[in-house]
Formats: sequence, C-alpha cells, structure tokens
Amino acid sequence: MSEHTDLREKLKDKKRIVVKVGTSSLTHPETGLLDLIKLEKLVRELTDLHNRGKEIILVSSGAIAVGRKTIGMKERPQKLSVKQACASIGQARLMMMYQKLFMEYNQVASQILMTKNTLVNGENRINARNTFDTLLEMGSIPVVNENDTISTYEIEFGDNDTLSAVVAALVQADLLILLSDIDGLFTDDPNRNPEAKFVEYVDHVDQHFEEMGRGTASDVGTGGMSTKLKAAKLATSAGADMVIANGADMGVIHRIVDGERIGTLFKANRTEDFYLIDYLDAPS
Ligand code: GLU
Repeated sequence: MSEHTDLREKLKDKKRIVVKVGTSSLTHPETGLLDLIKLEKLVRELTDLHNRGKEIILVSSGAIAVGRKTIGMKERPQKLSVKQACASIGQARLMMMYQKLFMEYNQVASQILMTKNTLVNGENRINARNTFDTLLEMGSIPVVNENDTISTYEIEFGDNDTLSAVVAALVQADLLILLSDIDGLFTDDPNRNPEAKFVEYVDHVDQHFEEMGRGTASDVGTGGMSTKLKAAKLATSAGADMVIANGADMGVIHRIVDGERIGTLFKANRTEDFYLIDYLDAPS
C-alpha cells in the first residue's frame, strides 16, 4: 500500500479535528448573501462527526461579508473602522445562524474570537488552550473567528487559513480540513494555465511547494493558495495532517474523514522543537 493510501485510511482514526470554511464556501457567488443550504449541511456534517465521537472545532469566516450585506453595502469595505463595524454586525448574525442550526441537531455550539495577542502572551495562550479543552470536554463545538472588531494590523492573523492552523497547533489537533473554492493544490494556477496539474499528496511542505502557491487567490476571502501553504507548514510541523478541499459540497467533510481521496493531503511532520510563536509573523 502506498504511503498516501495508508495515510488516507488513517484519517478515520483522527480524534480532534479542526474544519475551516472560507467566506466563498458560505455565500452565494451571485449575491454574496449566505448560502443557507450549505450552512445547514456544514452544521449537519460537523454534528454527525461529533456524534461519531470526534472532537470538532469550526473556524468560520464570513463576519465582514455578512455585516456588509446586512447594511446593504455594495463594495467590500476598505477602511479599517468600517471593516471592524461590519465584522461586529456580521459576527453576531453569523453566530445566530450557527446557534439556530446547531440547536436543531441538539448540538451545543460556543464562540471563541481570537487575536494574535491571545497567543503571543504565554498566560493568555495557556488560558486559551484550557478553554478549548474544557469546551471540547463539555461536548461543545467551538466556532472560532478572528476578533476582527478590535484587531488591527499589529495583532491580527489577517486570514483564517493561518488562524485555523494556529488553532490546530494550539489544541494539538490531529487533522485540519481547509474548505475553499478550489479543489486543492495545483502545480500552477489552473485558471490561467491549462497545463496545471493537481497535487494529491504532499509529504513535506518545502520551498518547491511554497513557490507553487504564489499567484492563486480567491476573490471573496482573504487567503489564497500561498496562505494555505503557510498554514500547511504550520499545521504539519505542529503534528496535524491537513487536507485542502473544495467546499462546494460540504459532504466532502465526512468523505475525507472516511478516507476518500479528496483534495490535497499534507502529511504531518512534527518538528521536535516546534514552537508556535516562531510561526507568527512579527508586526510589520
Ligand atoms: N475574519 C474574516 C471574516 O470573518 C475573514 C478572514 C478570511 O477570510 O480569511 O470576515
């Protein structure tokens, strides 16, 4: 059996799983409004994994997009205070939707909003870790986002790809699933280069792969392939396997955990001297 096939099989045994969904996977491309059918399916998938005995954390984007639609703003906000105000309106709305849907499946959801400061300070970091552990012990599914309402460039992660990898490292998750509007990693941007080949398996994120990620971006969320590869480096070094897959059908979540070959799988390569802080960019 190839190493890839073997690792795919082992995804069934993962216990602590972080799932990240980007704004593009939660909204209708035509209008930017929430895709309620997808949201409902996401919640059902996560609750079902929880019912199978897994510990689940959801990292969800969408606060700013939902906020701006709520007040009828046409363009993406550029000014920091406007983005923050949109996030404030949108995060509460988004969480209300999640609460409503999780409640329908009798699942307790909780909310954790983080900034980089949550991790740089040792005491805050331990505190955050304990809170995650306690919520998971209680059987809750924490829904995490950046605290966009107060975070400015010095303390922000900037994108939820990074945030989800940081969360995976913090809680020592054994699997991180990143759902986006792309199928996974390609050797080049498939929208521009028809010769681009799909990469099913990466056993080590090295410079060669990091270069592949440059130049591909999703136009709704913040992260492109480059941030996903940085996230892969962080998560795999912390000891988690990671899968990038297309969130067009939320059903991929259970199929990935069942070991199906979907998306790109990055193999965990825990580095002995892994230290989370080393992976957080210093403020520029
Ligand atoms: N935290 C942002 C939001 O909820 C999204 C960041 C991202 O798309 O990566 O709107």
